[in-house]
Amino acid sequence: MTDAIRIVGGEVYDPANHIEGQIRDIFIEDGRIVRDPIPGASTIDARGMVVMPGGVDIHSHVASGSVNLARRLLPEEHQRDPAPAPPLLEGKARSGTGGTVPSTFTTGYRYAGLGYTTVLDAAVAPLLARTSHAEFDDTPIVDGGFFVLVGNDEYLLELLDAGEREHAREYAAWLLDATHGYALKVVNPGGVEAWKRGRLAPMSIDTPLPASRVTPRAILETIVSAATSLGLPHPAHIHCNNLGRPGNVMTTLESMRAVEGQRAHFTHLQFHSYGGDSEGVWRSGAKELIEYVNTHPTISADVGQVMFGPATTVTADAPVEYLLHKSSGRKWANVDIELETGCGVVPHTYKEKAAISALQWVVGLELFLLAADPWRVVLSTDHPNGGSFLSYPELIHLLMDNTYRADRLKHVNNSLLAGSALSDGLEREYSLNEIAIITRAGPARLLGLRDKGHLGAGADADITIYSKEANIARMFATPRYVIKGGAVVVEEGQLRRTPNGRRLYVSPEHDRGIIPHLRGFFDKHATVSFDNYPVGELSDAAQPLVRLR
Ligand SMILES: [Zn+2]
Repeated sequence: MTDAIRIVGGEVYDPANHIEGQIRDIFIEDGRIVRDPIPGASTIDARGMVVMPGGVDIHSHVASGSVNLARRLLPEEHQRDPAPAPPLLEGKARSGTGGTVPSTFTTGYRYAGLGYTTVLDAAVAPLLARTSHAEFDDTPIVDGGFFVLVGNDEYLLELLDAGEREHAREYAAWLLDATHGYALKVVNPGGVEAWKRGRLAPMSIDTPLPASRVTPRAILETIVSAATSLGLPHPAHIHCNNLGRPGNVMTTLESMRAVEGQRAHFTHLQFHSYGGDSEGVWRSGAKELIEYVNTHPTISADVGQVMFGPATTVTADAPVEYLLHKSSGRKWANVDIELETGCGVVPHTYKEKAAISALQWVVGLELFLLAADPWRVVLSTDHPNGGSFLSYPELIHLLMDNTYRADRLKHVNNSLLAGSALSDGLEREYSLNEIAIITRAGPARLLGLRDKGHLGAGADADITIYSKEANIARMFATPRYVIKGGAVVVEEGQLRRTPNGRRLYVSPEHDRGIIPHLRGFFDKHATVSFDNYPVGELSDAAQPLVRLR
């Protein structure tokens, strides 16, 4: 069913086109939204319902070698949450497993069932890009792409040590092209490599790596300006140094100042907004950080909200996982990816009666509630790190309902909450329009996806229709209809069709002059040959949506 459709009588939230709750009809033909009604189109009666663009997740972990490692580490989760094949009207249904790190098919089904139609994986080691493409090929419905890790890449670090920043930019472009990645990702710049070289202490952004002149500042400056000068649709996506450490808000502010005036996206800000000191005293640093973001319009962020319940931490920030494993005693997997990055996995449970979990929950909510511009501070839980994407409806409820939030706040451990803005009272309630911004219009704009996150003529026909009801969490957990690329995938709340998702990637041009030097590096240090490194043509299922130049 990809023919013409009319969605009639719905209350439309399309913030990119300044439509806020007006009753409008939406017309679809050949997978896109069109201006005028199409004769003979089938009709969806959306009277009494809310119509929004399909959700866009700017930062998630769903398709990578590290996600797959997490699946292997957690067989007990598979056992607890079997996911039977859904009763589809068309196509082959597949069973799978759920939990915090669902299997590929279940990931696609559940994201679509939640009204999300585009998902970016935020951390892929270039060497394992093939795995990510294979996993996305196996993840139905959602359009996907991934960010390529560059913040601890040995070749890049050597170039920076030699002062070769232009060469570094060309290398970053080559890497995106070779892996079919979508954006450049920096995780704990230099900190993972420092850990591999035996250093675990907190890093300032001016701490050089052992046996090197390279600092986190140099890495940040280089990658942020590379993303800009290459004209990438999404700016550098930055996970700062010192994640999860008390007092790290100072590092986050220093990192933002280091790239002041340039476009840069700072991810899962919640994990980087702690006041206090290295003596282990914690407090919220959300207010001072979000004030900086509010007054610096070239900076954007996603929150990385922590939700109470089970989670799985999956990150390229291997030293953080080492510390978490040591402090929690939970099982741990860790992998070094040769020359490129690290990777660790530790299951974790956020408990409302645990002081640090409660502080993290509060810090995330403060960032949301104190953010002045919802277009620049968007929703994420850093799935599955702060909680599963399935907790988004509960998070939306917390943002939209001050009474509910205040009630939840009464039940959390308040021993670290003295002086926090939320404890002092933040009465803001997000409107439906603001929810539409932080879950679809904003992320699409920050990602540079011009055909997504809005309902104007020419946009991809990715649409979610919710029954309007008083129970906000239930409303957002169970959309009545979800349309992906013009196909009705959810009908009357049931998953019915599972078209293939498309791949989002960029192909920036780069100076071929770097190739001999790069080939020499591979010959000398890598176990994979230079010629076998690029991913090559993607499978038929993948269609390029964004190709630069
Ligand atoms: Zn992440």
